[in-house]
Amino acid sequence: MLQIQGISKQYKTGDFVQRALDNVSLNLRDSEFVAILGPSGSGKTTLLNIIGGLDHYDSGDLVINGISTKQYKSRDWDSYRNHTIGFVFQSYNLIPHQTILSNVELALTISGVSHSERRERARKALEQVGLGEHVNKKPNQLSGGQMQRVAIARALVNDPDIVLADEPTGALDSDTSVQIMDLLKEVAKDRLVVMVTHNPELAYQYATRIVELKDGVIRSDSEPFEPAQNETTTAPVHKTMG
Ligand code: ADP
Ligand code: MG
Repeated sequence: MLQIQGISKQYKTGDFVQRALDNVSLNLRDSEFVAILGPSGSGKTTLLNIIGGLDHYDSGDLVINGISTKQYKSRDWDSYRNHTIGFVFQSYNLIPHQTILSNVELALTISGVSHSERRERARKALEQVGLGEHVNKKPNQLSGGQMQRVAIARALVNDPDIVLADEPTGALDSDTSVQIMDLLKEVAKDRLVVMVTHNPELAYQYATRIVELKDGVIRSDSEPFEPAQNETTTAPVHKTMG
């Protein structure tokens, strides 16, 4: 369970202060498909980046399975990002001169595993997203939809508990978008998927929960989650991650 507790975040540019998130609280289940909707500039990417440990909150707490992150050091955040989170971006972020097999393999954060086993895991992840026959291609030899599948394979190769996707269909046509949504829905069967999207139709069709943000504040939540009392009565503790 992931608990976002009263998180605020502001960005300062010169004298200008932008409040990106304003006291946001949200509890996320271990397995659900959450779509975050909202106009441009409403704080969606900020929220996703804070959930994924790519950006840090100013105040509040991000509680991961009962563990507070208030005292996290950078190596705790590294470990969290590497082992618990998989990211999917609108622009794919693939390494152009590497094959897609290498792209996925390079994302493997587990150590003490032989080269052949790493290859095998990367290959399996690519098969899972329907690209088993394309593993030796480079990104520029693929369509946008296929590149996004590679990005999803890369996000899944470490078997993360949480997959975060920021406008994953933002650069895709509608048919291809539907294929990517089908894939993410499948991924969300046994883990938490949080997706930011501009497309309410796709969100309502595929996600199990819709959260709307505006001006850094949550305006609606279709499936609010209040954890059982015994899960919340103990104060979050600090523990260093593996
Ligand atoms: P969204 O993803 O919903 O479009 P963002 O989370 O990217 O919104 O941004 C929320 C607000 O914070 C916007 O006003 C944006 O300009 C501002 N912002 C985001 N990142 C930065 C940054 N690194 N520096 C300054 N302002 C930022
Ligand atoms: Mg954004």
